[in-house]
This record gives sequence, C-alpha cells and structure tokens, in this order.
Amino acid sequence: MKLTKLSLFFTLAILMSVNASAQNSKAAKWCASDQHLEEMKMQDPNFAAVREQLEQYTIDYKLNNDASKKKATVIIPVVVHNITHSGGQGYVSKNGIESMINRLNIDFNRQNTDASNTRPLFAPFAAAVDVEFRLAHIDPNGDCTEGIVRMENDLSFYPVPRDNVKSVSYWANNGARKYFNIWIIDEIETVSTGGYVAGYAQFPGSNNNGTYGVVIVDQNTSFNDRTLTHELGHCLNLLHTFNYGWCSGNDDYCSDTPRQYESVTSACNTNQNSCSNNEADYGNADVVDQIENYMSYASCQNMFTLDQKARVESILTNTNVNSGIGHLATNANLIATGVADPYNPAICTPIADFTYDKEYICQGDSVAFTDFSYDASPTSFNWLFSGGTPNTSGDANPTITYNTPGVFSVTHQPATTAGSGSEIKSNIITVSSLTADYSGLIVDGFENAGTFNSDWRIENIDGGGQPFTRITTTAATGTASVRIMNRFISVIGEQHELISPSYDLSVLANPTFSYKLAFARRASSNSDRLLVWRSLDCGYTWSLVMAPLQGSGLSTIGSTLNTGVWVPGANDWATKSTSLNSISTETNVRFKFAFESGQGNNLYIDDINIDGTLSIEDELTKITSFSVYPNPTSSSARISFNLIEGVENLSIKVRNAVGQVVTNVINGQSFSAGKYSLRVDEEKKLASGIYFIEMNSDGNTKVEKLIVR
Ligand SMILES: [Zn+2]
Repeated sequence: MKLTKLSLFFTLAILMSVNASAQNSKAAKWCASDQHLEEMKMQDPNFAAVREQLEQYTIDYKLNNDASKKKATVIIPVVVHNITHSGGQGYVSKNGIESMINRLNIDFNRQNTDASNTRPLFAPFAAAVDVEFRLAHIDPNGDCTEGIVRMENDLSFYPVPRDNVKSVSYWANNGARKYFNIWIIDEIETVSTGGYVAGYAQFPGSNNNGTYGVVIVDQNTSFNDRTLTHELGHCLNLLHTFNYGWCSGNDDYCSDTPRQYESVTSACNTNQNSCSNNEADYGNADVVDQIENYMSYASCQNMFTLDQKARVESILTNTNVNSGIGHLATNANLIATGVADPYNPAICTPIADFTYDKEYICQGDSVAFTDFSYDASPTSFNWLFSGGTPNTSGDANPTITYNTPGVFSVTHQPATTAGSGSEIKSNIITVSSLTADYSGLIVDGFENAGTFNSDWRIENIDGGGQPFTRITTTAATGTASVRIMNRFISVIGEQHELISPSYDLSVLANPTFSYKLAFARRASSNSDRLLVWRSLDCGYTWSLVMAPLQGSGLSTIGSTLNTGVWVPGANDWATKSTSLNSISTETNVRFKFAFESGQGNNLYIDDINIDGTLSIEDELTKITSFSVYPNPTSSSARISFNLIEGVENLSIKVRNAVGQVVTNVINGQSFSAGKYSLRVDEEKKLASGIYFIEMNSDGNTKVEKLIVR
C-alpha cells in the first residue's frame, strides 16, 4: 500500500477560489480589535480589571507629562511572522515587509507626505509620536535574524478561533517579552455584512505572553496602506475615535479627537459631523469628525493627536509585567534583540525552504521551483533535482523538466557569505508515463493484491488513521474490494483519496465508466460525501466526472440507518456509471475517488469498469513493423513501416509534448503495399524534448514516442 501525505492541487484550487472571492473587498468595519477585546474580557476574568488599572496609570501619566514636548525616539524591536498556506498564499516579500515597517515609522513620526492634508482645525493637535519600529537582528536563540519568520500552515486562512494562528510562531523568549510580534496571514475572517477583516490587534494589559501583537492580512501590507498603523495604535493602547460607536458614553479618552459615530466613519466626507457634543480641546463646540485620524475607519487617514501620543508614551513607560510594554524599549532589550544603534543590515545564514507549482506531472512536463528561504537574502543557490533536466541549478527560481517517469526528491541550498542553508524534500514530484498503463476494456475488481498496490495510489490527505484499504472480507463480486472504515473517523471533513492507474480510451467507441458502491449512514444528519474526478494530465488538474453523492444520496440502503460496524450484504451494492464520450479520444486518463467524512458508516468500492465498443475496422492494421529510429535521437530520425495492403489517405505528423503539430511528414497521401522509410525532420532539427509521431488513416491513429536529445 502506498501512503503519502501530499495534498492535491484540485483541493488547493478550490481553496484559492474561495479565498479570492472572500477577499475581494475590505469590510466597512475592517478592524476586529474591539470584538477581540470583548472576547478576551470574557475569557479572562482579570483582564477587565487590569485594563482599568492601566487606564488609571494613563490618566496619572497624562497629568504629569506634556505630550507636546519633543522626546527621544523610543525604539521597539519587531518580529514579523509571515504565515502562508497552499504553496505560498499570503506571502509578502522581504522588500514588502521592510516597506510596511517603513510606513509605520513614517506615520508614527509624522513624516507622511499627506500630513499637509490635515485640516487647519485639527493641525494644531497633530503629533509625531516619536516611536521607531526595527526588525530584530537577534532571535530568541541569540542567533542572527532579519526579523522575519516564514511558516507554511493552514491557519493562515481563516483561523478559528482567530488567535490560533499565533501559535504557529511567536517570539517571546521564555516568558520575557522581548519582541513586538506582527503576523501576516492570508485571511483573518469575512464579515456577515460583506467584505473581510483587514487586521486586529491585542490591546496591552492582557498579561498574555503568547498572543500580544497585531495580525494583518497580506493584501493590506503595502506601503500606501494604513491598516498596520491603525492596528499598532491599538497595541499601543489607542482606541477607535468612535469607541463604543455612539456620541455619549465612553469615547477614546482623548479630548482632541471629536466624538463620532462608528456607522458613518468609512467615507472621507469633510462635512461629516456625526456627533454634536464635542470635546474640551474644541471648546466643547460642535466640530466635524476627525476623518484624518489613524484610529478611524476613514480612508483619508494622516494623523495621530497629542492626546493619543500621551497614551502611547504612557504605555511605553509602563514596565508593569501585567499591563505595560515598556520592557520592549529598554536599552538592555534593544541590545538583546539586535536593534540598538548602530542598526545595520543583518547578514545571516539562510533558513532554506522552497515551494513548487506541481506535484503530479506527465513525463516531459516542467515544474517551477521558487526559493522560499528566509532570515537572509541569498547571494548564491545550489539546487539538486533527481530525475530532472537539468539536474542542478544555480538560479533562485529554476524551472525543471522531468523526462522520465518516477518519484523524485529535491535539495535546495541557498547561501550568503555567512553560510548556506539546506532543505531536502523527499519524493515530492511524481512523474507519470505518457503511455497509459491500460487500454481498451477494463474490469478491475481489486482481486490481485500486487496489481492493486502497484496500480492504485492512496492519498491520506489529512493523515487520518482510516485511509482507503484493500480488503478481502467482503466484495460486490469476487473476494476483494476497497473500504474506508469511516465508522471510526471522528473528524468531520477528513479527506481520503484513491487514484486509479491511467487508461487509454481512444481505442473505444462510446466509452463508459462505472463502479460499485456500498455505504450506510449512522444518522440522518450524516454529511459524508464522495466525489469522482478525472485527470487528463497525469494528476496535475482534476475535473468532476460524476455528480457528487452526499448524505442520503450516498446511502445504498435507502433510509435505513446502521450504528454498528457496517458490512454490506450482496444486495446492498449500487452500480454508478457515466458516459465518457466527451473524453473518448483521450489516451491518458486517471480517475480519483475523493471521500470526505461526515460521521456516517463504512464505505466500500468495487468493480471499476471501463466499457465501450472496440474499433474493429482499422486501416492501420495494414501497417506492420512501425518503428522510429534512432530513438532517442540527437539528429534527424527516420520512420519505417511495412504496408500489407495499399492505403488511400495516410498522414504522418509530429506533435510536441503539449500536442502541438511541429511538422507534417506526409499529408493525406496514397501508398501501395511495400516497405517504407521516411525522414521525420529533414530540414529543421527538432529541439530536444519528447515528441509523438502520429500516423493517421481515415480517423484511425497510431502513435509512437520520439525523444530528441
Ligand atoms: Zn481598529
């Protein structure tokens, strides 16, 4: 039995399409920090009290300190965890992360070019907060770092609960919080009223070493996006200017940010004035909303205020381990994290990693590999590709062709002057022969264990303990069938797959595909699902070939439920079949059974049949001893064949690996009986690769492979 844990690309394609549609627009209320604060208060009974203590500390600080005074810039060491999934969804480059940090520093020091857009009413209150964020250059182990961690994890997409993604990577250093943590992921969540959440922050005061920081989605990290500026404001104890959403009651504890309603804050209307009861700094006059403020939802943000600056200063001077974050900015911590002056670029040894765009290909196809190393900008690369052409590369992102069937490994060694990293991924590229394993009529009842093991591929997508298994205890016909012990799968949605060998359908007229199924539910609510797919490209892409069967539609014993360990009787099997006419000319077809558990009972499959009418009248039967030589060739090849009788309308063409006609050797000519030898490529030499010599006579086709070196 073959067990692998590779996820298949059809699954990725579905995820990506869901992803694309979910992320098309930022929600009107795109920040989830307030919800997150409320959830933390519910989970931690002490949290609200610590937040109140912190507010009292802030009030006292503001009484004794003048925020309008210029102070020494406070430096904060930062680590960015870029969590991606599905081969790189959510990825932000090092340059992108650096420009994101650059934007923070520009905004927090009021060096932004749009500062001039602050209206005269508010300009006197605009403040440089005097905080600088620096990517850490020493990691929690004391090693060299660029302050960027890259991890591949499915929690990058819609983690539930949302904070779970932080467990993938967090830098605290054994409880002593030394780094400000920022996570970039692919998607946080969508909002019921439309759009997606762009970011959320954890307010200080949580005493929670494992989660303090900001989560932001990748598409809101560009230099011109202020999402991170806003979220960092929350982490430094700034509230929304519309805090609690109404004109009376709590606001943001800043008297220079006029009160405003949450519901009208997403636009940039300079006449917007959602509350008439405004604040002390404006003489309690009725002034317009401060849509310029980074802590609003408006898209024309360009300022923090002096009162906001005072709140940030307060939290950065508070070294109380429960409530403050002042320990981040101590001189000792700046040295420990490698961000003290002089702050120069870090030159570290790369942590090697890479991604690739295909796992399953046909021979002659190519795979694009992408360097995914981090913690350094490699200055040289050394790739090794078993079975690949070429089998080594010094490029950052090489594309490699695989001409021989097999399962192959890849080694990646990126280097800087500090040293080289190494990552070996074993058996990741599966290359299938272009010549189908079987042709004509197929009857496969899994009766032969050896044939089953060599022909059928079992994919345990989620690593569950009950994959597809050949059994000999029950069968629709014969003695063997394939079973999923779904009765013992407890995870709803757990996926398992069974992939067939390849079939040549072109020799059949009106081909059909059928199989026998047996399945019972345990409860009427069971949501188990079976999908049957087919691939024409050796398993790279898949299309549904039959309508999905789910719940009661999957049951083969009607409405009867069975809570035991179900074994089908002779009458409990159903035959499912479909026409393959739409792909009847295909010469390399695979089928895949994909099962998703929904807590029902066991599922059994047997008797895979490909039926149809074998072509009898075939002009090409007059051709014998058809051969191509030399093969492989490095010069012009020849075709030789014998004709037992004359043929009326013979064509011979050469196709490349993707099916394009490269040259016509002969085109619809008549030949009398005899022996023939023809040159394939007399004038123009074929480039190296795989070709197919295709003989065609009155709709009948015969194909021979030619390899040119
Ligand atoms: Zn917010």
